[in-house]
Amino acid sequence: MRDTASGPRVLLKRLRELMQEPLEPQERLDRIVRDIASNMVAEVCSLYVLRADSVLELYATEGLNPTSVHLAQLRLGQGLVGTIAASARPLNLSNAQEHPAFAYLPETGEEIYHSFLGVPVLRAGRTLGVLVVQNKTMRQYREDEIEALETTAMVIAEMIATGDLARLTKPGLELDLRRPVSFTGLSFNDGVGLGHVVLHEPRIVVTNLFNEDSEEEVRRLDRSLGSLRLSIDDMLERRDVAFEGEHREVLEAYRMFANDRGWVRRLEEAIRNGLTAEAAVEKVQSDMRARMLHMTDPYLRERMSDFDDLANRLLRQLMGRGPEDVAASLPKDAILIARSMGAAELLDYPRDKLRGLVLEDGAATSHVVIVARAMGIPVAGQVKGAVSMAENGDAIIVDGEEGTIHLRPQSDLEAAYAEKVRFRARRQEVYRELRKKPSVTKDGVAVDLLMNAGLAVDLPQLTESGAAGIGLFRTELQFMVASTFPRAEAQERLYRDVLDAARGKPVTFRTIDIGGDKVLPYFKGAIQEENPALGWRAIRLTLDRPGLLRTQIRALLKACGGRELKLMLPMVTELSEIAQAREIIDREVRHLSRFAHHLPTSLKLGAMLEVPSLLFQLDELMKAVDFVSVGSNDLFQFVMAVDRGNTQLADRFDNLSTPFLRVLKMIADAGARNHTPVTLCGELAGKPISAMALIGLGFRSISMSPASIGPVKAMLTELPLQELEGFFNDNLMAPSQKLPMRALLQAFADDRSIPL
Ligand code: PEP
Ligand code: MG
Repeated sequence: MRDTASGPRVLLKRLRELMQEPLEPQERLDRIVRDIASNMVAEVCSLYVLRADSVLELYATEGLNPTSVHLAQLRLGQGLVGTIAASARPLNLSNAQEHPAFAYLPETGEEIYHSFLGVPVLRAGRTLGVLVVQNKTMRQYREDEIEALETTAMVIAEMIATGDLARLTKPGLELDLRRPVSFTGLSFNDGVGLGHVVLHEPRIVVTNLFNEDSEEEVRRLDRSLGSLRLSIDDMLERRDVAFEGEHREVLEAYRMFANDRGWVRRLEEAIRNGLTAEAAVEKVQSDMRARMLHMTDPYLRERMSDFDDLANRLLRQLMGRGPEDVAASLPKDAILIARSMGAAELLDYPRDKLRGLVLEDGAATSHVVIVARAMGIPVAGQVKGAVSMAENGDAIIVDGEEGTIHLRPQSDLEAAYAEKVRFRARRQEVYRELRKKPSVTKDGVAVDLLMNAGLAVDLPQLTESGAAGIGLFRTELQFMVASTFPRAEAQERLYRDVLDAARGKPVTFRTIDIGGDKVLPYFKGAIQEENPALGWRAIRLTLDRPGLLRTQIRALLKACGGRELKLMLPMVTELSEIAQAREIIDREVRHLSRFAHHLPTSLKLGAMLEVPSLLFQLDELMKAVDFVSVGSNDLFQFVMAVDRGNTQLADRFDNLSTPFLRVLKMIADAGARNHTPVTLCGELAGKPISAMALIGLGFRSISMSPASIGPVKAMLTELPLQELEGFFNDNLMAPSQKLPMRALLQAFADDRSIPL
């Protein structure tokens, strides 16, 4: 009897030699199929490759009519080969002609072969082709033969993925893997980026396929599995909030998988067939992914992504790879693709190499997007399917304006985008010129254009954007990108750096706005909430945990010694919260002055207007604070009862609709009536059309992302404010409008050539 393990081993060894020989791709394929046929004692071995037009083309054969190579073809789903490709499952038949899907291709002369074994050529769960062996006699292929053919198919997948076969394709009939594809998601940050794909959670590409010593390789796998299991146990033992609830469930599943005997057995089997441990993980994972891809049960599919993650962890263990290595090998024009990503993870990448970010999930207001915006990178979000269709190093275009991406774009599209990038650069030049002009309307009314910030990476933008100051400094970002609570000194240092960078321009710091969806994994006190947006967050949380607030206030007071401190409170619901916060601040001021600390020259306390309850006590609010800042992201969410992070609803309600504009007008009027400065710092301030509306409603100070300052200023300097005020007088309170307010505002701007 033949040694079942040595058959595949000999074949893999032979393939390794073939891969290293300087052969033309066709010659290499021909030799591969010949060797497979001889090793498996099959009369036929054929390789079909999937083209971008969903046709499987015969690329090489031993045994079938050689003139049919590159001519014989089957559609996806057609015949046995098409069925294997469509289902991503092997077919093992002793009498192929009897199978209902059998399709006879006369050009191949295959009618005399009865038994048939075909396996999909898979990579990362995607089918790239089909590998077939056939025999004249009626026989059932053994399990180990199926395994051997699948392993061989992996080597071929590698050849296809590395572009080795590209030279065999005819123009217009490219391989599926290299097919240009476009996806449309949502625009999360404007801008256009041309570059090359970097998968944030790379499906680690295993290039070292063949092992030298199976037993040593099994031991290596064993050691890595051991460390993997330990690290999972370790995570489970930590009683951090980050590992409770959903997350805990995932980890429990990981633990179960990591101990799954079936999984481990399949891995060992693949190694004994000659693969390295890494290649074995990839093979087993790829087979499993392909099978699961056709499952519709959402629970199982979800578990699949856990399994993927686990396999990736195991690969990293095996390869001893850390995140630093990834950063070092980054191309200079990297476009990151991720399912989702934390803000801290984005900051791990060097800014100067990033040209764009693509997320399969996420929302425009999620923190990674806020950070990406601060870094000035174009972002497309909700781009479903991007991860599985992209390969590291693929050319890609991110159109942040449209929320689309183009993978492996054709040259004319690339040229068009390159032109777009040049056009944008020219426009940036215009915005730079505008910085020198005063920030006034066409009829001379001054409006302060401020920027939002939250991290040290934002600070250079203060000069680059020409902002008049920082209207919102989100202090929680420092907390969110850290792995433990930032110490008092680190907080003070950041605040000092911000003020130094501002060089006398005003800066408004907001006390930490965490809780709800902004979770700090290391914060032990967090609770599971059914409605986090309405829950224990922002000022509610910091008043209940005064230690946190006191430390921050002390750091701010110290950092602002000899300068002005402008401080505002997020998510105020009742005026008593302002009074309580003021007490804490006063106590800190007294404490510091007792120790002869250098205190701020003045302290201005403001409230964010984000909760509708304040709308019904506007005059009292204006009197209770030194200034008010409208947080339009939250205010809109609460006024309209629409979750700001729910992408399903993202475009459903218009933030320039009459009711919301009336709310904003009420606020601006109350500010003017009480001589209390009012500003607005939500995303609304950053779009020229909504910024125009705000100014028309009476806002004289708005704060936005730095990239928006140029376009908003271009609008501002062309805006005849008096006319816009007249427009609002005529339209805002009118009982019935013919057109939505957005359309009316657009027409107003178009008629006057105001650039929006
Ligand atoms: C807002 O709600 O509009 C705001 C500026 O705060 P954040 O986006 O940080 O919640
Ligand atoms: Mg808010």
